[in-house]
Amino acid sequence: MSNHVAVNPKLPSGGTNIFTIMSKLATEHKAINLGQGFPDFECDEKLKELVAKHVREGKNQYAPLAGLPKLNETLSKKMEHVYGMPIDPTSQICVTAGATQALYTAIMAFVNPGDEVIIFEPAYDCYKPQIQLAGGTVKPYNMTYPDYEIDWNEVKDMVTDKTRMIVINTPHNPSGTVLGEQDMQTLEEIVSGTNIIVLSDEVYEHLIFDGEKHQSIMRFPKLFEQSLAVFSFGKTLHATGWKLGYIVGPEYLIKEFKSIHQWNVFCTNSFVQFAVADYLTEPENYEYLPSFFQEKRDAMNKLFKEVPLTPKVATGTYFQAYDYSEVSDLDDLSFAKYLTSEIGVAAIPMSPFYTNPPGDKVIRLCFAKKEETIHAAAERLLKLKG
Ligand code: PMP
Ligand code: GLN
Repeated sequence: MSNHVAVNPKLPSGGTNIFTIMSKLATEHKAINLGQGFPDFECDEKLKELVAKHVREGKNQYAPLAGLPKLNETLSKKMEHVYGMPIDPTSQICVTAGATQALYTAIMAFVNPGDEVIIFEPAYDCYKPQIQLAGGTVKPYNMTYPDYEIDWNEVKDMVTDKTRMIVINTPHNPSGTVLGEQDMQTLEEIVSGTNIIVLSDEVYEHLIFDGEKHQSIMRFPKLFEQSLAVFSFGKTLHATGWKLGYIVGPEYLIKEFKSIHQWNVFCTNSFVQFAVADYLTEPENYEYLPSFFQEKRDAMNKLFKEVPLTPKVATGTYFQAYDYSEVSDLDDLSFAKYLTSEIGVAAIPMSPFYTNPPGDKVIRLCFAKKEETIHAAAERLLKLKG
């Protein structure tokens, strides 16, 4: 007899996330990976040097719980510079193990069993399981290709006395769209006077194009009083593997966040914090990002001109949504697998980001790639023309 105990899963077991599935398939078939979102180019040599220097100089012991004071100072100055909002470095910021842990801890800290949380789908894949782990009920709002717009009157109707949180994400993964000033003002009106916390996933804050301005909750002082914003150095520094991020909010919410944070990681790695604190003191080290990624988006759209997939041109993030109905009747997961195994380009289907998939024929491709990678992918995708 085996000596195994009951597992009693808290979430449906076997639920491997779509990024892992598609990246594994991409490796198996030697496909060009435009699926999982990560750059195939290096981060700045200056930044690598700073990381190496701090390791060499012995910055290898625990950092303070809420982050290295020098890093929090740098971030506070950066946020004031970019969004015009003064953020107190000691009481309004907590450094986290990537945005994922910031989201998880925020949800654990504020969502209780029975609480309802509104999310906008297609939604980044970690929100739903995190809410479920906290005992909350997910209330999904469906957005659809090509506009992925939100009708806020419908959102207003979804709010009940159990609504505890609304999770927004701008620029939005996986659609590549952004929220405008009007969206944020309407959201502010909806939550004003309620006990609803807005959890704002802003990891792509600098990946915004065509002269658009990122509508951070930090541009809306009243909304900020009941909000938390989440960021990731993985996106800003082209270093997704470092898994370092931070959360910002009013002192009373960050205080509670920290009290939970101390029991799940306590603090995050010290040497990257030292390096980022130095690196981000120079605005030029992040101000180039919108044009840098806009060029990549435009290169992809130029090189894909003859590819029979219809893009929803991204206004933010490093993802673009593509309608493939011209070339296939397959469902999106089957089509993404076909593209990976038969055409040699890995993609991400949209349906895993929905509770109730609308059934449209849409995949997501990532353009955080070298031009030669995008070029090689375009050549392979031309095979779709038949
Ligand atoms: N939110 C969104 C919208 C993302 O796209 C990602 C990662 N790609 C994350 C959160 C998680 O960021 P991190 O890797 O820093 O945990
Ligand atoms: N955020 C990345 C994406 O959207 C992937 C993150 C992950 O693999 N969990 O593609």
